[in-house]
Amino acid sequence: MPHSDQMIWNDNLTAERPSFVTHLECGLTGERYEADVVQGLSRAGRPLLVRYDLDSVRAALTKDVLAGRPRDLWRWRELLPVRDKANIVSLGECETPLIPLTTAGERLAARAPLVKDEGRLPTGSFKARGLVMAISMAKALGVRTIAMPTNGNAGAAAAAYASRAGIESVILCPDDTPEINVREIAAQGGRVYRVNGLIDDCGAIVARGCAENGWYDLSTLKEPYRIEGKKTMGLELAEQLGWELPDAIFYPTGGGTGLIGMWKAFDELEAIGLIGSRRPRMYAVQASGCAPIVRAFEAGERHAERWEDAHTVAAGIRVPKAVGDFLILDAVRESGGKALAIGDPAIVAATERAAIEDGLLLCPEGGATLAAYEQALADGEVGRDEQVVLFNCATGLKYPMRDRSKTLDRHGTIDLPSL
Ligand SMILES: *Cc1c(COP(=O)(O)O)cnc(C)c1O
Repeated sequence: MPHSDQMIWNDNLTAERPSFVTHLECGLTGERYEADVVQGLSRAGRPLLVRYDLDSVRAALTKDVLAGRPRDLWRWRELLPVRDKANIVSLGECETPLIPLTTAGERLAARAPLVKDEGRLPTGSFKARGLVMAISMAKALGVRTIAMPTNGNAGAAAAAYASRAGIESVILCPDDTPEINVREIAAQGGRVYRVNGLIDDCGAIVARGCAENGWYDLSTLKEPYRIEGKKTMGLELAEQLGWELPDAIFYPTGGGTGLIGMWKAFDELEAIGLIGSRRPRMYAVQASGCAPIVRAFEAGERHAERWEDAHTVAAGIRVPKAVGDFLILDAVRESGGKALAIGDPAIVAATERAAIEDGLLLCPEGGATLAAYEQALADGEVGRDEQVVLFNCATGLKYPMRDRSKTLDRHGTIDLPSL
């Protein structure tokens, strides 16, 4: 072991702890699969979900136990798939704060929306939550090389955790992926390739490489564990809000891992007695230039057709076809929420507004949730006194910013009162 994980879990739950994972289950058909061996999609070609012995978790994971643990992702270990802490490849997955947009709330004459700022996580995005889990499990299962298609942030997190685990990573991204993402993937040891296509075109090449080269496919929802990491957003949120979920959650939806994961987390929390049956309305936010889930939602469909000619400034949600489409749509409908599309100009304007008004630099995808919230408020879809949580999924520092500076000539006369 090149590093020590003692800081993560220093109590007496060790390798011998009872395991809480019982099996995996096809998200569409419910067919059971064995855990602890390498698995991809189900025979129906759909995502596998991890199932736990929730009665045992209920006895082990109480509010008192939680109160004594560090405020990080591993405080939820009984509801996570890693059985042996020696396999955890941590970069310090902290709990992320809820920041109220106070000025925006005043402007909108509404209760200040809370931003769950996921940009504080390792590699600067919430992809770290999913990838720390997927890579730790890949390590547990003896995987040598992982591969994934990415719009940027997932590849960066995959490369970082893979390097830390001593696993090789092959990362394929669309050739117009934000430059910083392409560079950070390589900087963290990933073998990165720019592909003249979209993320699902990259995914098709990854699938061929997995079949021929024996790589482990870490594509969104094509292995069972990223969703388990992402669901910690829902676990955290419940605890941060005093075990009462908010009225509404706005989530920027690409592959939908986080939305599906949170929905699963809420059911698990209810099953272990930490929350009741009340759920937030889930709003899946997409960009107008790539809105397959919105189109399917409005058409009353359970599956979403591929979106052709996808384009948006919010690269993280430029996903033309999601393998977990029905899981996203089921959760949105069951919750009484909606799928909403936002145009790029509104995304950019909301992103800039949050930074200027409230000093919080969002990523464009986070800006999309603010724009969607403002639209929902104006439409009466959300009440002014409702508690709303917006997800900012990456640090705004990774994205291009408009140059608003002016220059000063230190040799000339400077009109100080005008500065
Ligand atoms: C990946 C990503 C998303 C979409 O997340 P999913 O859970 O895959 O839908 C949103 N925003 C950013 C910044 C991302 O990197």
